[in-house]
Amino acid sequence: MFTAFLIKYAEIGVKGKNRYLFENALVQQIKYALKKCDGKFAVRKTDGRIYVDAVSDFDYEETVAGLKRVFGISGICPMVYVEDEGFEKLGKTVIEYIDKVYPDKNKSFKVAARRARKNYPLNSMEMNMELGGIILDAYPEMRVDVHNPDIMLNVEVRDMIYIYSEIIPGPGGMPVGTGGKAMLLLSGGIDSPVAGWMIAKRGVKIDAVYFHAPPYTSERAKQKVVDLAKKVAAYTGPIYLHVINFTDIQLYIYDKCPHDELTIIMRRYMMRIAEHIAKETECLGLITGESIGQVASQTMHSLMATNDVCGLPVYRPLIGFDKMDIVDISEKIDTYETSIQPYEDCCTIFVAKHPVTKPNLNIIRKHEHNLDEKIDELVQTALDTDEVIIVK
Ligand code: ATP
Ligand code: MG
Repeated sequence: MFTAFLIKYAEIGVKGKNRYLFENALVQQIKYALKKCDGKFAVRKTDGRIYVDAVSDFDYEETVAGLKRVFGISGICPMVYVEDEGFEKLGKTVIEYIDKVYPDKNKSFKVAARRARKNYPLNSMEMNMELGGIILDAYPEMRVDVHNPDIMLNVEVRDMIYIYSEIIPGPGGMPVGTGGKAMLLLSGGIDSPVAGWMIAKRGVKIDAVYFHAPPYTSERAKQKVVDLAKKVAAYTGPIYLHVINFTDIQLYIYDKCPHDELTIIMRRYMMRIAEHIAKETECLGLITGESIGQVASQTMHSLMATNDVCGLPVYRPLIGFDKMDIVDISEKIDTYETSIQPYEDCCTIFVAKHPVTKPNLNIIRKHEHNLDEKIDELVQTALDTDEVIIVK
């Protein structure tokens, strides 16, 4: 029965002079999300509102699911349009609407009429009264409640008359593309896809880098990361995924540095390389899935040692989250099932039995000098062999 959607957006409504930039970005993202849905749609921006009109048959559930992945949308209102062909016709459509949308009539309601077109013969108050009466005549079990109605029936007189009453919650946040771009360090775990999703939700476009260590990590481990990037891209739009071959760097560190410091030193090289690619691709920051105390490499001391090599800001949106809370989000955004597939990531192969939990920065820096002979060359080779996969 629905043929259109009114898109509500909260936060971006208050951006003053830049408002149109946010609205345009939102329209772009809506169009992108709808491209993946069956059916044709027209997205239009009028009177400070965004409407999605179906211009062909479409799959309602799939379309709503698509819109629910567009950051910046706070609510999705499925709508019915009726041509302005007299009040009687409007009354009939309203009765039909209620019948289809609310099979159970034991409900209270309120009619909220608005006229964007003031030449309509009835004013809003009169419309509320008349339509209320028509509804009560048709469904005597229903009752009016103007303060706390179960159904808020909006009737808006515009070029046509729009009827809607349901608000499906959107994801909130800001439209991707309004907040610059950042580089996500994406592993195959639970945390990093969630971290990327959270930053993208604030309007930031995401690219990603994955450190691959063949043959210690398999093609399937890499495929898992591509699959995760795809899940995140359903919200963010296309992600440029850089796959960096990290094997020789890891083996060299393994060979030259104390084993209890392997993870920290390895992570420092990951950050250095990620930052290099970030700067070359106009990213304004790095994103990781780190959370204080989760593992030895994420104590305050370890985070300080890792952060030490970064010039760009490192965003760690999960820093204060418990694992359970992260799992909840990963289930909600549908990355969990992929993340828990059991393919090893490169860090699990080279981990020491007893990694340092309080690395001393000066000692780490000193031990990194053990790598002086060959490390620059190895890093350069890793950068030169960067494989870029565009994940949509
Ligand atoms: P995740 O669940 O995201 O894998 P984790 O709890 O396993 O995180 P670590 O392995 O210590 O934690 O990694 C911390 C962060 O470092 C990850 O969230 C991710 O951002 C980054 N990272 C770790 N391994 C890789 C990798 N192989 N490629 C890219 N980034 C990585
Ligand atoms: Mg991991």
